[in-house]
Amino acid sequence: MPNIEELTYCSEHPNTATNLKCSRCDTLICHKCMVQAPVGIRCKEHGKIKKLPTYDVSKGMLIKVTLLSLLLGILSGGILGLILSPILWGIPYANLILIAGYGYVQSEIISLSTNRKKGKSLVIVGIIGIATCYCIFIALTIITSIYFNIFDCLAMIIGIYLLITRLR
Ligand SMILES: [Zn+2]
Ligand SMILES: [Zn+2]
Repeated sequence: MPNIEELTYCSEHPNTATNLKCSRCDTLICHKCMVQAPVGIRCKEHGKIKKLPTYDVSKGMLIKVTLLSLLLGILSGGILGLILSPILWGIPYANLILIAGYGYVQSEIISLSTNRKKGKSLVIVGIIGIATCYCIFIALTIITSIYFNIFDCLAMIIGIYLLITRLR
C-alpha cells in the first residue's frame, strides 16, 4: 500500500492523486486536465497551440533571411546576366523560364531557411531579393548589350507572382 504522504495531487484537482507533470513548467497535472502536445504532456496553459506559428517570424530570423535574400539576389542576378543568359541566348523561352523560375527558387530558399514560415514580412524580404536579382540582371543586359525584351519583363512579373503566392 502506498504511503499517503508520498502521493502528489493535481494542481487543479486537489483530490486527484497524480505524478504527471507539465513538460514545460513542472506543474502537477492529472488525466482530466492534461493536454497531449507534440512535445509531451502539458498543463492547460502550456498545451495551448500557439496562434499560427507559421506566421511567427522572429526579428533575428528576419534579419538573417533578409541578408540571405539580398546575397542570393546579387549572386543570381550576376549568374543570370553574365553566364546563363549569354549561353542560353537564342533558345526560345530559356530566359523566360530562368527569370520566372527564379521567383520560385527564391521563395523556396526563404521558406526552407525559415522552417517553412510564411507571412507579409517574408514576402517583402523575398521581393527585396528578387528585385535585386532582376535589377542586376537588367543592368548587366544593358552593359553587355544582350538583347532584353518584353518577355523578360513578363517573366519577372510571373517570378514575383510565384514568390508572393508561395510566401504569403
Ligand atoms: Zn505548464
Ligand atoms: Zn487535474
